[in-house]
Amino acid sequence: DAVKSSNLKGYAPICCGYEDFYWRRVHLRMQDCFDRPVASAPDAWLDIVERQSNDSHKTLQRTAETSRCLNLGSYNYLGFAAADEYCTPRVIESLKKYSASTCSARVDGGNTKLHTELEELVARFVRKPAAIVFGMGYVTNSAIIPTLIGKGGLIVSDSLNHNSIVNGSRFSGATIKVFKHNNPAHLEHVLREQIAEGQDHTHKPWKKIIVIMEGIYSMEGEMCNLPGIMAVCKKYKAYTYLDEAHSIGAIGKTGRGVCELMGVDPADIDIMMGTFTKSFGSCGGYIAASKEIIHHLKHACPAHIYATSISPPAAQQVISAMKVILGEDGSNRGAKKLAQIWENGNFFRLELKKMGFEVLGDNDSPVMPIMLYNPAKMPAFSRECLRKNVAVCTIAYPATPLLLARARICISASHSRDDLIRGLEVISKVGDLVGAKYCPVEKEKT
Ligand code: PMP
Repeated sequence: DAVKSSNLKGYAPICCGYEDFYWRRVHLRMQDCFDRPVASAPDAWLDIVERQSNDSHKTLQRTAETSRCLNLGSYNYLGFAAADEYCTPRVIESLKKYSASTCSARVDGGNTKLHTELEELVARFVRKPAAIVFGMGYVTNSAIIPTLIGKGGLIVSDSLNHNSIVNGSRFSGATIKVFKHNNPAHLEHVLREQIAEGQDHTHKPWKKIIVIMEGIYSMEGEMCNLPGIMAVCKKYKAYTYLDEAHSIGAIGKTGRGVCELMGVDPADIDIMMGTFTKSFGSCGGYIAASKEIIHHLKHACPAHIYATSISPPAAQQVISAMKVILGEDGSNRGAKKLAQIWENGNFFRLELKKMGFEVLGDNDSPVMPIMLYNPAKMPAFSRECLRKNVAVCTIAYPATPLLLARARICISASHSRDDLIRGLEVISKVGDLVGAKYCPVEKEKT
């Protein structure tokens, strides 16, 4: 009954892939979530839930006022969202020179040298001919997708795509079909079904088809099966749109994201999207594509024409961070950061698994969700971590299906080994307390 009333179906249409993807796993965990009589839940857990409802607000304030927390929840993958010897002086300089805002759209005098420099640098960084930047990553997706496609077009979207993609797709007026998460075979099935309506193997009846996916899925920590998906798109001549919000800067030998990691030529991807809010420690977003597409976007995208341009200091922060990653600051700090995030992420993931946690995602991904399943465990998990001065994000419905609550850890290059060990100790204790270690640890053979 609990399964039926949990309304997983209510998740449709755009997240319906979750149902398929996780059904087996949810089913296995249902016993843990519902069949167990409440009285048999660990006492400590009930106690925590009780305490939370009594003084949750006070506890939060107390922690915020008096404690420095180890932050295991931020997207600050390379540690640029903190004072940096190269970036910070340049950002301060740009603030003095240009102020915090242009107070104008790009086309109305809101363009500075920094905006042009940033677009050229982004294009060079992601290895595309041209780029356009926006003041917000969310808006980059939600405003660009409707500028690229409209009524009569078909969007085929990964079932776990970010809300900004979902909303951009809905605003566009195009027909939306969803393929099972990261599943090229199902993508092919969807495309074949849609294109068959044209009676030949052209795109009829569609004016154009765009397939949209992400580099790293932020709720899953999982990387896109880019080669597999690209092969299907090529076969069916569909345009490709890749959101690299979580992968650009964070993965790949020189920080160039999933394309670099998986050996895919960026020239084969039509639209590359990314944000500046993660690896670059700033805010804003970009689209990189052919000169023709960028020209079209600059003349047709309302978020370029009617919205105030990205703040100059934010633009300067991205320029400086990219230069550090590229080694153009005259140091090898960028390369060190990239090696560090890789080492930190893989160390942390392995240790969590050794403790018996069920951790989603791929090796090399700095995002690692720990499954909690039962949403009731979520506040207890984050609260107890916070009490021990470790900040983690817990995530549940509607960002995930109802019964797939999780704690999401994001690892940064700026975490020291001591930080990571302290974080692991706390998470292990809290995991025992709330009963979140679902994978029995194999006893070492003596
Ligand atoms: N795309 C993806 C995949 C994201 O995860 C996010 C936000 N985390 C965005 C776009 C929106 O970016 P921003 O937070 O920079 O607005």
